[in-house]
Amino acid sequence: MQVETAMTNNYMRERVSWFYSRFDFPPRDVAKREFGFGWNSKIDQRHKSFPSPKELGEFLRREAPLYASYSVAYYQIPDGRPMQRKGFLGAELAFDIDRPRIGTHKHNEVICPACLDAARQDALQLLEEYLLGDFGFFHHEISANFSGSKGYHLHVDSEAVRELGSDGRREIAEYASEPRGELLVEEEIRGDAREFYEEKKRGASKLITGPGEKARGWGKKLYDEAVIALKASPLEGERKKLALENLRRGNYGAVKGTEKIWERAKADAIAKHALVLDKQVTLDTARLIRLPETIHGGTGLIAKKCDLRSFDPLTDALAFPEKTMVRVKPAKDAAFELMGKTFETKEGVAVDLPEPAAMLLMLKGCASLA
Ligand SMILES: [Zn+2]
Repeated sequence: MQVETAMTNNYMRERVSWFYSRFDFPPRDVAKREFGFGWNSKIDQRHKSFPSPKELGEFLRREAPLYASYSVAYYQIPDGRPMQRKGFLGAELAFDIDRPRIGTHKHNEVICPACLDAARQDALQLLEEYLLGDFGFFHHEISANFSGSKGYHLHVDSEAVRELGSDGRREIAEYASEPRGELLVEEEIRGDAREFYEEKKRGASKLITGPGEKARGWGKKLYDEAVIALKASPLEGERKKLALENLRRGNYGAVKGTEKIWERAKADAIAKHALVLDKQVTLDTARLIRLPETIHGGTGLIAKKCDLRSFDPLTDALAFPEKTMVRVKPAKDAAFELMGKTFETKEGVAVDLPEPAAMLLMLKGCASLA
């Protein structure tokens, strides 16, 4: 068994080195970045730096790391230690989405197309609704890449973003994760609330104010859901019309008995718009994150830069040729999809697989070289 393990490890290392013989995707400002590499864990070694893309490429080919990460931060002395000696120059704004919002489904332990697609959709929503929409970043400032395993990363880089401190980064991550502040404010109608007098006569007991049709950000998200919920409510003709008219002006308390509708609208807005982010990745500028276009050592897939609208990691992130067949001995039964094909393996029964599938099983510890 030990001989098999050594053979398998040698083979994988050789193939990873082969993959890096074609690597030509250095990050922006290589010389100002800190790098970290892993062979046994994700990061065994950090505080590395390279004067130019050439040295980075040579390192990857020579050492064939299973994991390569880089700093979202730019430093004067990227290999300086401790961290304070590096001379922080600013940092990209990074997002990590790897826990997709997905309901019960037939989950696949080897590689799950449903989870991957849900993560892609969440990343696309972060890009379009928040980064381009609410925050108003430009397309050219943002890049997206598959993480190589379960999720997606988004990087924003601009002068303004580089200067953001941890608090600003935290606020941005929290804004995309939950509504900020109280969206609906409730108070008793006082005698001087003249403009609401009519509503009081109609039986409204409370003054509930909230976002109207001109609201932006989370206010707009709630308002849109409130309109949908109100239209779908059993409220009859005239009262529904009145409630809708008042809603546009941000008066949620005009019609008695509508409170439940707004609760429902708020829950729907959160379910639809609150994303699940690993906030630590966004606010910690000292963190290293997967280097785009490198191999993920848990899958053999590439952390590929991508267009989130159309990317499919099961066909678009392959690091090894589909035509090369590799004989492996599975350590357990497995069934999975890759490259548009379905594979089934039985424990202990040697099988010839296309290299991407063979590498996936070997890197997951589910098979050895036969
Ligand atoms: Zn799944």
